[in-house]
Amino acid sequence: MVRINRREFLQLAGTGALGVGTGFLLGEAIKHPMELLVPYPVPPEEYSPGVDTWYSTLCAGCDARCGIRVRVREGRVKKIEGNPLHPVNQGGLCARGQSGVQELYHPERISQPLAHNLDSNSNYSPISWENAFNQITQQLKSLVEKQQGDRVWMMTTGTQGHLYGLQKRFMDTLRSPHLMQYTHDNHTNLYAANRHCFNTEQLPYYDIAHSPLLLSFGADYLSTWLSPMQYTRAFGVMRQGAFSVTEQEALSATEINAHSVATPKTHSRGKTIQIEPRLSLSGANADHWLATSPGSEAVLALALCGELLRKGFYTGDNRKSWEQQLQPYSLQRASRDSGLDVATLKQLAEDFGSGPGLAIAGGGALQGSNGFVTAVAINLLNFFGGNLNRPGGILQNPSPVFGAEAAPKQANYKQLQSLIKSADRGEIELLILYDTDPLQNSPTASGLESALAKIPTVVSLSTHMNRSSIKANLILPLHSYLEDWDDSAPEPGVGFRTGALAQPVIQPLYDTRSGGDILLTLAKGLGGNIRQALPWDSYEIYLKNQWRELYRQRNPDSLSLDEDFQQFWQSVLQVGVWGEKAIPDGVKQRPDSETISTETASTRQAELIHRNLTLSPSLLDSAGISSQTVEPQFNGSEASYPFVLYPYLSPVFGDGRWSHLPWLQELPDPLTKVVYDAWVELNPDTARQLSLQEGELVEISSAVGKLTLPLLLYPALRPDTVAIPLGLPYKGLTDTGHPDTNPFALITDSVDQHTGELALAATRVQLRGTGRRVSLVRTDGHPHTLGRQILQPPERNNNLIPTHEVRK
Ligand code: SF4
Repeated sequence: MVRINRREFLQLAGTGALGVGTGFLLGEAIKHPMELLVPYPVPPEEYSPGVDTWYSTLCAGCDARCGIRVRVREGRVKKIEGNPLHPVNQGGLCARGQSGVQELYHPERISQPLAHNLDSNSNYSPISWENAFNQITQQLKSLVEKQQGDRVWMMTTGTQGHLYGLQKRFMDTLRSPHLMQYTHDNHTNLYAANRHCFNTEQLPYYDIAHSPLLLSFGADYLSTWLSPMQYTRAFGVMRQGAFSVTEQEALSATEINAHSVATPKTHSRGKTIQIEPRLSLSGANADHWLATSPGSEAVLALALCGELLRKGFYTGDNRKSWEQQLQPYSLQRASRDSGLDVATLKQLAEDFGSGPGLAIAGGGALQGSNGFVTAVAINLLNFFGGNLNRPGGILQNPSPVFGAEAAPKQANYKQLQSLIKSADRGEIELLILYDTDPLQNSPTASGLESALAKIPTVVSLSTHMNRSSIKANLILPLHSYLEDWDDSAPEPGVGFRTGALAQPVIQPLYDTRSGGDILLTLAKGLGGNIRQALPWDSYEIYLKNQWRELYRQRNPDSLSLDEDFQQFWQSVLQVGVWGEKAIPDGVKQRPDSETISTETASTRQAELIHRNLTLSPSLLDSAGISSQTVEPQFNGSEASYPFVLYPYLSPVFGDGRWSHLPWLQELPDPLTKVVYDAWVELNPDTARQLSLQEGELVEISSAVGKLTLPLLLYPALRPDTVAIPLGLPYKGLTDTGHPDTNPFALITDSVDQHTGELALAATRVQLRGTGRRVSLVRTDGHPHTLGRQILQPPERNNNLIPTHEVRK
C-alpha cells in the first residue's frame, strides 16, 4: 500500500503533484515493496469495478426468513436491504437483518475444520476436510454395518424448506429416527393448540392488518413473535386505518359461526391492547397495557369467553353446553388470578365482542406450565369473537408450497430430555449439532452438558464458536448465509402459497462448506444405498432439482421443460421469491411485474375459506382443560422464592443466534436503553422494599441455580415479578474470568404437562443484594423527573393503563 504522511501530502498538494496522480502514485510505488500491490488479473465472475450488484436472498437472523437484497461491490458485501417483493417483510428489515453483514465478516468466524485436542479443555488443532470426512465416514460406516444407525442423532434448529428434506433423507438412510429441531422458542404449544382446535399442522395467518382491535396475550409481535417484520408491517397498516370495508362485506357470507357480531362499516384506526406482566415493545406501542399475573392468561381468556356468551355475542345452537363448560371460569375468578378488576374485564369483553377483536398469544403467556391450555383458550376466544376465517381474524394458511417434508418439525423439550437420557445410558455414538447451540438454549439443570460429555463423537457444524461447539470433538465450519444456497416456505405463512430462494452473493471467504454439501459428501463416502438415496453432487444441484420438480408439477403441459424451468429459475433468483402473488390483500404497496404468478388471487381465497371451522364444547375436555389444569404451577415455594421469574426474548437479540455481532451489541435495548450488558429488572416499589438500588449487583436464586446481575429499575413490571432478557451475549463463553450470565442457569427443568414444551416461565426466585454496584451503560440519560413530579398519573378507575403513562 502506498503510504503518505500529512506533511508529504501538503507538500505534494502545494506543488500540484496530486494533479498528476498517476505519476505520483508510480513514484511512491517504486519506493515501496512490489509485493504489497495485489493484482486481480482473473477476477471472480461477479466482479465489475465500480458497479453495484444487487442479489436477492434470505435473511437468517430468525426463523421468519425475510427476503433481502444485498448490495455487492467489487466482491464485497456493502449493505443489506429488505426485498420489497417478498410477502413476509415487503421491504422491511429489522436491526438484526441489517447486521447480517457483520455475520459474514465477523473476525471470529471459524475459517477451517478443527479437531478438539482432548488433552486440553480449550485447544483445537486445524484438520483437513478430507481427514474430518474420513473420521466421520469411518464411524458411520461401522455403525451402519452393525445395523446401529439409530445410535446417530442430529439436532438442528428452525430448519425450513428443502434442507429439512435433505437432513431427513440422510438420517432415514442411516435408519435413525433421531432428527430433532430443538430451540426453546419453538412455539410447540401454539402448534399443538392449532392442531387440536383446527386440525392443521401450519400456523394460521393472523390478519392483524385488518383487525379493528388486537388483543395480544404476551405476544411481542413488533420485535420477536413468530415473524416480526410481517407483523410490524401489518401493525402499520392497521394503525393507518387501511381496513377494507368492501373486502369485509364481500366475505361476510363465508363467516363460519352463527354469530350476530356486528360487522363494522367503517374503520379508521385499529386499537391494540397488550396483556402481559412486563411491558414489551408491542405493549409500549399499544393503546393500553394490562399488567396481569404470570400464568393467569388461560383463566382470563376463558372468563372472557363466558362473558361473550352472556352478552349474546355467540348465538350457536350449542350455547347452553358452552355455558356449562365455561361456568367454572367466572370474571371474579379471572379478576382474582390476574389482578385486573371485574369492571375492566367486562369492558374488555364488550370491546372484543363488538370490535370484533383478534386475540393472539405468545411470549410468557405460552411458556408457563399451562401454555398449551392458554393457547387453546385464546383460540376459543377468537371463536366466540367470530374471528375464524374472516378478514381481520384468523385465516388458515394453505399447506406449504414445498410439501409436508419441507415444513419445520419442531422438537419439544421432552425430546431433548430423551436425548439426554439416551446419552446418559450410552445409546448415542455420534451426535451432529447442525448449526445449533443447545447448551445456550436449555436449562443448565437439564444435565445436557454432562450428557454431551458421554457421547463418543460430537460434531458441530457452525459458523462461529458457541457454547456447544467448544464441547465438540470436531468442528466443521459452515458458510455464512450470504455465501450459501437455501430456500424457505415461510412459516407462519402469509395467507397464500409462496417459496423463496437464498443464493450466495459472494464467493466463500474461508475454507468453509455448505451444511447440505457436508451431508452429501458424507453420503458419497458411505456409498451403496446411502449414496443412491442422496445422489446429488452438491446442495445447489439438490435444491435446483427440487424446484424443477415443483415447476414440473405445476406446468405439466410444458413442451420444453428444461428450457422453461431454466427461465423460471433465473427469474426466481432475480426476484428472490415465487408465489401466487407477492403482496397480501389490503396492503397499499403492490408487486411489480417481475413477480412470477402461476396461481390467482381467487385460488387463495378459496384456500382460506375452504373449511367451515367450528369448535365443539367437548374441546375443553379433549384438551385436558379443567379447573385445575388452567392454573399455572411454579417451581419453588412462594415462602422461599417470593418472585416469579419472567424471561423474555430481547427485542434486539431475539433468540441470541447473532448476539456476537457488534452492531447489535451497540444497539440500545428499545425500552430500557441499556447497551452491552445483561441485567435483571425489578419494579421500583419492590426494590425499595428490599432496599435494593439501581446498578446494585443482585444475586438471583432459584431452586436449581443462581446468577448475579446488575439491577435495573423497570416501572412497567408487576411488583411480584422479576424479568430477565434472553438472547444477550452472555459472558462466560470465552471470557473465563467472568461468571456466567445466562438466565438458563436459573430455569427449572419442567415442562408443559400437555405438550412437553419447556415451561420457561414457571420458576420462582429470590433476590439478595450484594452491596456491590456497577454502572449500567444506558443511552437515555436519567429516566425520571428527579422527584419534581412534573408528570402525574391521572385518576383512573380501572386497570386499562394508557401506555404513554407507563413509559414515563
Ligand atoms: S425479522 Fe428475522 S428474518 Fe426478518 S429481517 Fe429481522 S432477523 Fe431477519
